Formats: sequence, structure tokens, C-alpha cells
Amino acid sequence: MLQTFSSKCLCIFLILLIPVSTCAQSFKVTLLGTGTPIPMVERFGPSILVEAGSEKLLFDCGRGAAIRLWQLHIPMRDVTAVFFTHLHSDHIVGFPDLWLTGWLPPPFGHRTEPMHVYGPRGTKQMILHLEKAYRADIRIRIADEKLPRSGVTIVTKEITEGVVYEKNGVKVTAFNVDHGEFIKPAFGYRIDYQGRSVVLSGDTRFSENLIKFSNGADVLFHEVAAAKPENLRTSEAARRIIGHHTTPEDAGRVFNRVKPKLAVYTHIALLSTDPAISAPTVEDLVSLTRKTYSGAFEVGEDLMSIEVGDKITVHRFTPQSH
Ligand SMILES: [Zn+2]
Ligand SMILES: [Zn+2]
Repeated sequence: MLQTFSSKCLCIFLILLIPVSTCAQSFKVTLLGTGTPIPMVERFGPSILVEAGSEKLLFDCGRGAAIRLWQLHIPMRDVTAVFFTHLHSDHIVGFPDLWLTGWLPPPFGHRTEPMHVYGPRGTKQMILHLEKAYRADIRIRIADEKLPRSGVTIVTKEITEGVVYEKNGVKVTAFNVDHGEFIKPAFGYRIDYQGRSVVLSGDTRFSENLIKFSNGADVLFHEVAAAKPENLRTSEAARRIIGHHTTPEDAGRVFNRVKPKLAVYTHIALLSTDPAISAPTVEDLVSLTRKTYSGAFEVGEDLMSIEVGDKITVHRFTPQSH
């Protein structure tokens, strides 16, 4: 009798354990926004969700990140921590939405615990001023709707190069990238989980330091920017923008050095500063990259997700799949 009872208990215990442990091993990266400041409906502002076991880490929070999260049916309260690569507006402009809308009571929000934010020097000032900017809303909702102050509290940490976060088996390492002389520090991030790793470039030109920190990475997510040669010849503005980013040919050189199992473009700037000159297309982007790189790569799309397991699996979003 006792034996039957304990084996039944063991069975229930195993049934309870299996889904939890399967879930705990998943390592998935979803591109919430693959765009730039260009206000495009197809490409929202830069934001990448990394799900590793029980952690849901958000890297940058550009335009529309809250909308993309809810397209995945992920409540905003579930984001464990937010990491900023740098403080250019296209990377942060979606943050007040995530922060304040995530505090509202409906199912997409309902945050009751403080948010945790990591970023470069200047992040604390930015958060302090956001709290001032939205003071009226915060005061009103606490008084009127009785929302808990804890749910709108932000715990901010300014970081430097090195390991910045270690929790539930996930390790996040920030490293310096090169986004131009006035944009320092600008970070890329490496995320390690259960012997696998992904690297997010942030905004950068060709960076030796990125190559160093990407050693052995399974998947490299890299920014890219391109303009037509005739645009670059005639426009100082186009040259200045491209000069802060990585050309497809240079990205190919980075991929050759890092040799990831898969490279993925995000923060995709296909631009023209002259209405008479068309912007490069995705096909142009692919053929320019192929000049220097013959390995596996994807041109990222919003809500594309990449599972990092024994195999690297790429999923494109369809409304039916969610
Ligand atoms: Zn940017
Ligand atoms: Zn930038």
C-alpha cells in the first residue's frame, strides 16, 4: 500500500517536473523590432527579447516594443530586466510605454514588482527625468486606481564592460563597441545560457572588440546600414550616418572572423537621403554581404525568432502561429 502510494507520488512529481524542466532549457531570441529611426510599419524600433529558461531579458526598447510583446501574448510584467545598448532615442523611445502601460491592471500589464534597468552612463539621469515627466500620471493612478507604487518603481544600474547580470543560469556580459566618438559608452551584449551563447552587436561600426567577445558564439545578431554609392558620393548626411554603422561588406568580414552557426541582421538601415535616389533593397543587402561572406545568415524581420538548441531553428512570425 505504502509502495503504491509512493510510486503514485513519484509519478505525479515527475509529471509536474517534466514541463518545467523542458521549459527551463529553452533559449530563444525574438526580434521585436528590426528597424531604425525610420518610421516604418514593417520594422518597429530596435528591441530584442532573449528568453532563457525563466528569464525574459529585453535589449533596447524602441518604438512599438510593447505592441510586439503583446502580439506574442507576453505580458509586459513578465520582462525580467531591460538592458540599453546606448541612449540614442530609437533604442529607448518605447520604454515609457513598456514601463507605464505594463503597470496598468489588464492582462497585458499588471506589474506589481519593480523593473530592473541596466544601461550606460546617463541611464540613471534619463530614468530620473522620465519619473519626473510622468509624475502626474503616476500620482493620479496611485490615488485613483490604487495601483501599487512598487509596480512603477525602477531600479537602475549603470554598467561598464564585463559581466553585468547573472541569474537563474543566465549570464549577460556587456562589451564596448564603436558607434562613434560622441557615443561612448555604447555596448554590445553577450548572453550565455547552458553552454550556448548569442551576441547582440548594438549599434556599431566594424568592431574588433565585438569579434573578441563573440568568440564561440552560436548566433550573432548584427546591425547593418547601406546606401547607394551615388547617394554616398553626393550626400554628407548619408556618409555621416553610414560612418556610424556597419556596411554589409564589413558585416560579412565580422561574420567570417566570428564564424557563428548563424548570423542575423537586425537594426537594418537601408537608406537614402536623396529623394531622387532609391534606397538599397533587401536583395541588395544580401548580394553586398555575399561579396565577403559565404556562410549562413538571415535578414531579420520583426517577430522572427531563433531557437538556440542542438540545432539553430529560425521561425518567421505569422498571426496564425500565435
Ligand atoms: Zn540605432
Ligand atoms: Zn545609435
